[in-house]
Amino acid sequence: MTEYLHPRTIALAVVVVSMTAGLLLLMSSRRNSEEPSLFTWGIANVMGSIGVAMLAMRNIAPDTLTIIVANALTLSAYMVNVAGVLQFCRRQVPWGLIALPPLVWLLLCQVPDFYGSVEARLTYISAIVVIASFTPAAVLWRLRGEALPTRIPTIVWYCLHGCVFIVRLVIPLLNTAPAPTELQASPVVVIIMVEALVHVTMISFLLLLLIKDRAEERYRRAAETDVLTGQPNRRAFMAEAERLVAEPTRWPACMLVIDVDRFKSINDTVGHAGGDTVLVTIATTIRSHLRPTDTFGRLGGEEFGALLPNTTLACAMTIAEGLRARVAALDIAAGGTTLRATVSIGVSMIAGGKPDLDTLIDRADACLYEAKRTGRNRVVAREDGIRLAG
Ligand code: GH3
Ligand code: MG
Ligand code: MG
Repeated sequence: MTEYLHPRTIALAVVVVSMTAGLLLLMSSRRNSEEPSLFTWGIANVMGSIGVAMLAMRNIAPDTLTIIVANALTLSAYMVNVAGVLQFCRRQVPWGLIALPPLVWLLLCQVPDFYGSVEARLTYISAIVVIASFTPAAVLWRLRGEALPTRIPTIVWYCLHGCVFIVRLVIPLLNTAPAPTELQASPVVVIIMVEALVHVTMISFLLLLLIKDRAEERYRRAAETDVLTGQPNRRAFMAEAERLVAEPTRWPACMLVIDVDRFKSINDTVGHAGGDTVLVTIATTIRSHLRPTDTFGRLGGEEFGALLPNTTLACAMTIAEGLRARVAALDIAAGGTTLRATVSIGVSMIAGGKPDLDTLIDRADACLYEAKRTGRNRVVAREDGIRLAG
């Protein structure tokens, strides 16, 4: 294998791949200011690329460059990559610790016994690579709350890379014959170099995918969230309600359509911005008094919807009445004054048959209309055309 895969040839491939990926990461960091990790990973790749290029110049350039500086750069690249992962996981970066391994390396190289021993140098470097592989794996492992499909493949890859260097750490202990240089230390060097090539390619790819995962999740959330109130928008509410309504284990289920009373005159009194504050306060109050299993969203304007699964009409009326009373009791600070607002609520229920969300909403709407007609600040419910309460 060594005849075909000369370490210097593989090193050239590592240099090209690492530099290309680094420049790509740096370019995408310019368009994505929310992810400082892109810039950090880009710098790590560029450093690694220069480091490996210098390593490959062994016996061409002076040893100070090809051993001391080259390895200091590669170690820095590994550590800066860890810093990027910490940034991606929104963790504080201990820059002092990140700088420590290359600095210790520079100091150790001043010790003749260390500098003179290829095994000692390779052992130190391998140990740092092991740390720089398992640390990001552990940090990413703890990022469980986020929906990132590439997280687990990235963790697996970091661990595999770390394991390769654990093997590398053990081999010099078994190998008693001193190796003449790093490049000819053993055929394992070729394997390590090929692994480095695959690693640079894989990790750049995986890290970019992680960034893409996060961006996609952000867009998905934004598309489902109402910008003003932060609650699910009409589309998200309807989609979730559709799911709940089609699920017989959730029956009986009740639909609440909630509309702010005389909102136009609130806007006239406190201005549009003040009106917005009123909407946010009412939406937050309603959501906080619903159960976690209930679905809530802004249907549009000053109208909200809530779908309550496994709830009888009587129970839904009690909940709706509670919501109405809580909103009516709020002192809302808006537009430089304190005001009160009320809501009217229409309630409808499904208990069986072939439930249809539109009909459910239409029936709740009809109740809401009646609540408005009969004085506002009230709850009206109907089941199959029979008015139950008002
Ligand atoms: P009713 O008691 O019959 O519901 O009367 P209303 O004034 O609340 O109802 P109407 O539908 O006539 O007016 C709703 C108003 O809500 C009109 C619109 O300008 C205002 N509105 C809709 N969306 C927003 C918003 O996002 N912010 C603010 N500030 N006002 C909004
Ligand atoms: Mg209204
Ligand atoms: Mg309305």
